[in-house]
Amino acid sequence: MPNSSEFSKDSAVYRTLLESTKAIPWKIDWASMKFAYIGPQIETLLGWSQDSWVSVEDWAKRMHVDDREHVVNFCVAQSQAGADHEADYRALTKDNGYVWIRDVVHVVRNDKGEVESLIGFMFDISERKKTEEKLLTMQRELETLSFKDGLTSIANRRQFDVSFELEWKNARNNRQPLSMLMFDIDFFKQYNDLYGHIRGDKCLVDIAQTLSLALDGLRDMVARFGGEEFVVLLPQTDAAVAWKVAERCQRLVQRRAIDHAQSPHGQMLTVSIGVGTVIPDEHMKPASFIEAVDLRLYAAKKNGRNRIETLQAVA
Ligand code: GH3
Ligand code: MG
Ligand code: MG
Repeated sequence: MPNSSEFSKDSAVYRTLLESTKAIPWKIDWASMKFAYIGPQIETLLGWSQDSWVSVEDWAKRMHVDDREHVVNFCVAQSQAGADHEADYRALTKDNGYVWIRDVVHVVRNDKGEVESLIGFMFDISERKKTEEKLLTMQRELETLSFKDGLTSIANRRQFDVSFELEWKNARNNRQPLSMLMFDIDFFKQYNDLYGHIRGDKCLVDIAQTLSLALDGLRDMVARFGGEEFVVLLPQTDAAVAWKVAERCQRLVQRRAIDHAQSPHGQMLTVSIGVGTVIPDEHMKPASFIEAVDLRLYAAKKNGRNRIETLQAVA
């Protein structure tokens, strides 16, 4: 049973002050590890009556099981070392809920410098924790969004740059081939002029979806590289397989049968594709590989569009 006599001796004013704050004051006698005092506000906050707080075990057992061990160990160690400290934990309520608490602890010593008691304040920090959690969720959502292309919902250029750097290093370290496909829609300016930008946008979404469907490797990725340009990254993939994937992409775009009245290729929308495969070594620059594949894409354009051109001879 909490002993409040020491407090009442001191001053009724102090007691009124302490018991009318939102922070909950408490005192533990070091020798007995028993509560000498705990503010009556504890009952309003957690539901456990003021007299039910007898010893530190009551404090420890009314703590969320995931917090208990490390918080109790930390507080005991700090107190034994005579250091003031604070800890955040979830205190259990009588009706099986929990409240986030910040416990701020001061170590009181006697004239000889020995620890005599611990006094502290418990603060209800649930609202702050809720805000923190909400902020964290929003931050995660923002991170996801910042790697996604707003129009097509596939990876954006930023995500591609990150993945490409990572896969380049992986391929170099493991001496494995890395393949890349670059796509550019043919006569897309005319498509926009003919059908309008809204249909142009829808067409970009369709192409992004089509290319996503063409991939089956776990680490394969498709990204929007720029306006009407897309890129596919194929880790652990050699030139022959990369060529097959390019053909599959071209076939799937054909099957999608998007009308383009001004296209010489069956009045259907088509894509040109540049393909390259590399086993990177220490002397190679990643940017040079991208440039080389891009040049193949230009070759596909020059050689008539709706074609695939590759860096490697494919058997
Ligand atoms: P080529 O066959 O040589 O590739 O010709 P092209 O007309 O496709 O190439 P060009 O680079 O001249 O035009 C690309 C067009 O892509 C121009 C631009 O308006 C359009 N474009 C780029 N981004 C978007 C977009 O987000 N939405 C729409 N609707 N159009 C876009
Ligand atoms: Mg282009
Ligand atoms: Mg184009």
